[in-house]
This record gives sequence, structure tokens and C-alpha cells, in this order.
Amino acid sequence: MPEGHKTHWIARRHDQMLRDQVIRVTSPQGRFRSDARNVSGKTLTGVHAAGKHLFYEFEGQRIVHIHLGRYGKYREHKVPPPPPVGQVRLRMIGTQACIDLNGPTTCRVITLETRDEIVSKLGPDPLAGGRKSVAWDSISVSKKPIGALLLDQSVIAGVGNIFRAELLYEIGMDPNKPGNALTKPDFDHMWKVLTRMMKTGLKYGKIITVTASEAGKPISQLADSERFRVYRQPNCPGCDFAIETTDLASRKLYWCPHCQSQARQAF
Ligand SMILES: [Zn+2]
Repeated sequence: MPEGHKTHWIARRHDQMLRDQVIRVTSPQGRFRSDARNVSGKTLTGVHAAGKHLFYEFEGQRIVHIHLGRYGKYREHKVPPPPPVGQVRLRMIGTQACIDLNGPTTCRVITLETRDEIVSKLGPDPLAGGRKSVAWDSISVSKKPIGALLLDQSVIAGVGNIFRAELLYEIGMDPNKPGNALTKPDFDHMWKVLTRMMKTGLKYGKIITVTASEAGKPISQLADSERFRVYRQPNCPGCDFAIETTDLASRKLYWCPHCQSQARQAF
């Protein structure tokens, strides 16, 4: 599932490709057809991301709301586009570029009020200038494990399973540590590392947590399997013990119990 860095990356890219153009909006698959008619032929005024949500704003205060979920996937074409491939829910055709979307969890036209309601339920988004004090207010009073709180979009918006694993590993934190057991310096450090990781993800369009010196080669030459320290990795880069997995908040968490034990959390 795309995490926050990716939705922001997509928003920037699609904004550059389609903004200030009259967009022909269709639904080759059909499921978005009646909504598509409400925005087709109107000017796209901007594309924005909030956490894992994408908002395509059209004149007339109509917004196409997308949540990619696990299977949502975009394809880009030049104009005129080729015939749709697979179940294309949404096709947006601008003057020079066409964007197809298959398999999103959410694809609908909403009003500004609904958009504001969605955003108001999200926690701060580190890539959208979200205020860390708001996240601290939620985490510092919760008995839930930090590994679950990080996936809760009402606590921090944009963190998914990879950022969760990589963040907790980098700061050496036990994923089972309750939110209310974090000290303010723990939290400040966590927020700082998360923001840095998400900004790197936004820059490259993919999550990369290893450094060039760790990898022994430039970041641009990393294979997909080499981008992470613990996520889907066999061994811990720090202690070489096996990376373990456990279910936490309904997702598989990758972690090193040796390097992320409660006893090692002082920094
Ligand atoms: Zn380790």
C-alpha cells in the first residue's frame, strides 16, 4: 500500500501534468461513470495529498477523492491515450497527458465540506507541515503500543507498514512500548527521524532507509530488496540476528527484538 511519501509524490506529479487544464474525465470500466460526468470538461485547479488521501480539485468546488488502498495503481500515457488496460476506474485526459487509475479503494466526487471532514479526522501529516504537538497529545496519553499508534491515521497521517518498521528500528524502539511510556525526547527524536525518512521517500518516489555508506553503493543503484534495513529483510544489519515478524495492528511487523529491546531505548 502506498504510504504518505507516495501520495505526496503522486500529487506533485499529477499537479504538474494536469493543472490548469480542461480535463476529460471518464470511467472506461463504468463504476465511476456518473461521478465522472460531474467533473468532466472542467478545469483542474490543483492536486493535493493529505496522509494517504489524494484530492483532485476541479472548478466549481468539486473534488475527486482517491484512496489507493492496497491495489490502486496509476498509469501514465501521452495524448491520445491507448485503449484502457484492465479495469480502468478513472481516466483523466489533459492537453498532453492522460492518467489511468485501476483498483483504488476509493474513487468518488466529493464537496469541499466532505474533503475538510476527511482531513479533520487525520492526524498531522509530517509532509504537509503537520504539527508534531498534536501527535504527541495523542500518543502520550495512549496505552496502545507505539507500533499500533503509528499505523493509526488519526494519530499521524501517512505512516504505513514500511515506515513503521523502519522508523522503530532506526530509533531502537520496542514496537510494544505503550505510547504513554514514551518520553518527550523519545517522541521528538521519533518525529524527526520519521520526517526525514518521509522527505527522502518523497524525493525519490520510494522509501529508502539505508544510506549509501551502509549499502556500499549510490542510493540510485539500490535494488528494491536493498532499500530497507528490516522490512522483508532476513537478518538485522546491526546484530545479524534474524529479523522477526509479529502481527501488530493487523499488519505484519518486521523488527529485531535484540536491537529494539526495552533495555536499549535510552538515547
Ligand atoms: Zn539487531
